[in-house]
Amino acid sequence: MALIGHYINGVHAAPPEAESGQRYGVVFNPATGEAQHQLAFASAARVAEAIAAAAAALPGWRATSLTKRADVFFKLRHLLVQRRDELAAVVTSEHGKVLSDAAGEVARGLENVEFAAGLIQHLKGDYSEQVANGVDVHSVKQPVGVVGCITPFNFPVMVPLWMVSNAIACGNTVVLKPSEKDPSAALLLAELFTEAGLPPGVLNVVNGDKEAVDAILDSPEVRAVSFVGSTPIARSIYERASAKGKRVQALGGAKNHMVVLPDADIEAAADAAVSAAYGSAGERCMAVSVLVAVGGVGDALVAAIQTRISKLTIGSGTEAASEMGPLITAEHRDKVAGYVHRAPAEGATVVVDGTADPVAAGPGFFLGVSLLDQVETGMQAYRDEIFGPVLSVVRVPSFEEAVSLVNENQYGNGVAIFTRDGGAARQFEFEIEAGMVGVNVPIPVPVGSFSFGGWKDSLFGDSHIYGPESIHFYTRSKVVTTRWPDPASSSVDLGFPSNH
Ligand code: NAD
Repeated sequence: MALIGHYINGVHAAPPEAESGQRYGVVFNPATGEAQHQLAFASAARVAEAIAAAAAALPGWRATSLTKRADVFFKLRHLLVQRRDELAAVVTSEHGKVLSDAAGEVARGLENVEFAAGLIQHLKGDYSEQVANGVDVHSVKQPVGVVGCITPFNFPVMVPLWMVSNAIACGNTVVLKPSEKDPSAALLLAELFTEAGLPPGVLNVVNGDKEAVDAILDSPEVRAVSFVGSTPIARSIYERASAKGKRVQALGGAKNHMVVLPDADIEAAADAAVSAAYGSAGERCMAVSVLVAVGGVGDALVAAIQTRISKLTIGSGTEAASEMGPLITAEHRDKVAGYVHRAPAEGATVVVDGTADPVAAGPGFFLGVSLLDQVETGMQAYRDEIFGPVLSVVRVPSFEEAVSLVNENQYGNGVAIFTRDGGAARQFEFEIEAGMVGVNVPIPVPVGSFSFGGWKDSLFGDSHIYGPESIHFYTRSKVVTTRWPDPASSSVDLGFPSNH
């Protein structure tokens, strides 16, 4: 098994065997179930080395001209396009998602590189002339310093690019701690940044688990933390890092509802529901996991979804015919299967049982897709984020009850409405408590020029990620008030300065 380490100061870090008490993890190939890499878990000392490299690189990088910074992102964009298939193959081999989906993730990540390349525009300050006699005021946006980025397993290219592109564009330096389940894509990204001209130490990657994360959160050198992952960990990251006086944005889990009104096109809604529920094996924070059938639309919708499920091809992500790959680990597959097994006892109807699908017998961490009907809010399958290929159908009599159902949910990441009624869609947008809303769009992930983030337990902190809000998050503003007095008119004045 190849040994995977860290990337510090522009190079792959010294062999981890050199460290005493070195701990290791295992990276699997989910399609075969085989262990394929050994992963060195960074100790607190190793993380301190990466933070020191980032701190040392900070003065030079923040003083680098904006055009030179932008140039790195233009070159990186070219490299990402050129090596998209290689990156996608790395993602598929460790995450399991199908190659086309992995390539799609690279494309969505690229949006953030393109946005970052416009840093000259994003970092413009404001200027007011003559706020008082002979006095002008301007504001500048300066980097916050060393930024810690901690990312989940489900988008090993896109989520790191959400964070590091904009943090680096703003003149910060970064220590990235990717998921220990699929770490290789982040290391390849770091190499590509270097190839694009990023100076050593500006982007460092440490691999590991809680020990590495805690070392980032506790370091006084780290001024801001971007986190994406599950809600319990997001909450604890927010509490620990903000207690140390850092800026924190911690994006958590989700339970995304797709509301289908009686006037919707049933076939189009079924296509969207199947795509959004089972794509990437349901391991997307914006996956649709609850279908809210309003009025009498439930039976027709469930039948249309069932027909589509029977035609899905599940298999290794490297097979061209595969539409859905395996889950990330054997433990996660078993946890997801448990929700389906327990559903009948709670009163739900298992319309399609993915745990009985022959693929679930292995090899690999495969599970068939499941459809649960007559799900109610008290059931575990409704309450928990399952994060697998399980779609729950909840039936409600009216638009108002659909809105209440969504608004009472613990999470508020994405939500969608399917309808032909513009007035109903507008009212939904007005009332619904979620950060991202789709109108006849099942997975409304904003493009890179907007910002991404949920409400309620889907985000801790007040700043959404990437896009304009990230420029705000990764910079500190400074306001400068200037006067160039004429010595001839200078005098002592103990009064409080007034602009009138
Ligand atoms: P996770 O919370 O288990 O792990 C995320 C990161 O935190 C990883 O780097 C992991 O090593 C680290 N971590 C895990 N346990 C920790 C601990 N006790 N202390 C400190 N760090 C710890 O999440 P995951 O399973 O990798 O990813 C799936 C989750 O991420 C889902 O809940 C999904 O909804 C969520 N997610 C959210 C978004 C979003 O934008 N809101 C996007 C992608 C994924």
